[in-house]
This record gives sequence, structure tokens and C-alpha cells, in this order.
Amino acid sequence: MPVDPASALRLCGSGSKTWDVLAIRQGTLSTRRSHVFLNHDVYGEPDGDLEMSYSFWVLRTDDAVIVVDAGMSDQGARSRGRGYERSTATALTELNLRPEDVARVIVSHAHYDHIGGLSDIPGRPVTMAAEEYAFWRSDASRRPLLRSVVDDADLAYLETVAAHNLLTLTTGVQEAAPGVVIIPAPGHTPGELVVLVRTGAGIVVLACDAAHLDEELEDDRPFRHQTDLLAMYESLHLIRSLAQDPAVTAVVTGHDPRVQQRYPHLPGIDHVSVVARR
Ligand SMILES: [Zn+2]
Repeated sequence: MPVDPASALRLCGSGSKTWDVLAIRQGTLSTRRSHVFLNHDVYGEPDGDLEMSYSFWVLRTDDAVIVVDAGMSDQGARSRGRGYERSTATALTELNLRPEDVARVIVSHAHYDHIGGLSDIPGRPVTMAAEEYAFWRSDASRRPLLRSVVDDADLAYLETVAAHNLLTLTTGVQEAAPGVVIIPAPGHTPGELVVLVRTGAGIVVLACDAAHLDEELEDDRPFRHQTDLLAMYESLHLIRSLAQDPAVTAVVTGHDPRVQQRYPHLPGIDHVSVVARR
């Protein structure tokens, strides 16, 4: 069922709890435009260099911490030639966070750079879309084009999370915590999620990988990895609809280095951007 952006924003906006939103950069990639945008040759443009960043997000309120995506493992990053600056465990320690301080991890989707660091936050509840979990357990996901962006070890770890009754599988729009709303935004993967967060400055949209780069939103230009192109276009449209609502003060794409340039850094921690305060 298509998501109604206005009702999702109302659900996120009703209540008083607000969150800090921190973007934590974990790695980088210098690549080419033709390697990033799906069927880049169709646009008739010259190729060019393109920088990507790899991040996850920490939401903090007075009495709770939620981590959105768990980042990538050393193995997942290096086997794909990604620059790897720090593990998820190191990044959390630098923020004075222990795994037990994390109330919940929200997983936007199961690609290597979003669940590879889950084992750095052991024993904590994890929320993801039921459709995403089912897809990566299905034979349909075994095709090389789809499998190249997941690691079997990461999927096996998800199975252990489920075996410990720590995996919550969701459908549709859901309030994961007061002021934190997850929205289905499929296309990049079947169960990709976007996260809305209520902050002191308004609602922040974490696009995760429903939009990797600002250009995908600005030019309606899909990313190379997808499982449903039409759904991906619809999810880009959904994010633009959310962005136009006056309640929304920021849209953060999943892999755009502009995020680090746009927001102030935590004092002394250059790789942590403060998107908004509670
Ligand atoms: Zn990603």
C-alpha cells in the first residue's frame, strides 16, 4: 500500500520527545559517475569523478539511544575496495556509548554496509522490514547481481539475532519509538526503510539508501543497485514529498559526502556531523 507522507509526518510529529541526530562517517569511496547511476550512458553526459561516504546514524534523547543502521565490517569494506576509517564499535566508543546503552538498532536494509557492524552491538533488539528479511532468505536473492551487496556472514548474524528473539519484523509505517517513525521505501531493496526523526528543529528524514546521493532526489536519477526500478522512482518521489512538508527541516541521503559539509561536526570528532539537536 502506498505510504501517505502527511500521515507518517503526523505520527512522527505528535508527542514531545525529541532526539539528537548524529551522522557518523565510517568510510569513503572515490569512484565514477558511470559506476554509481543506473544506465548512466542514457543521460548523454560525460563521465566524471564522484565521492561517496559510508555512514550510520545515532539518535539520542534524554533516556535512550537508537542506532539507525550498523555500518560495515572491516571485511565487508576492504573486500570491495572501500576506504575503511573505523569500525562501528570504535565509532560508538568515541561517542562514549557501550552496546548496552543502545536501546534498539533500526536496519534500513540488509546490504553489507548497513548490517556488517551489527555484531559490534551484540545482544540488542533489531528492527527491520519483514519483507527485507524474507527476501534475503529466499532463492530469488541468490542471483549474483543481488548477492554482490550482501555478505553471508552478516545474514547469518541476522539469523542469530532472530534466534535470540531480538528481531522485530515490521510491515507498513510504524512508530519504532516516540518520535521515530519508519516508512517503507522499496526499490533499492524490497524492504528498504526511510526513518523520520522528531528533533528540536523539526523532523529529519533519514533517506538511508532509498536515496544514496542528493542528485538522485534532485534529478530523479536511480542508483545502480535496485530490485524494482519503478518502486525506486516512487520512493524518490515519496522522499521529495516529505521534503516539501514544512514540518521537515532536513533530508539526509545515505552516502552523500555533502552531509559532512552541510552540518557542524562534534567538537574534536570530525567524522561525526550533528544534523539536528533534540
Ligand atoms: Zn548503503
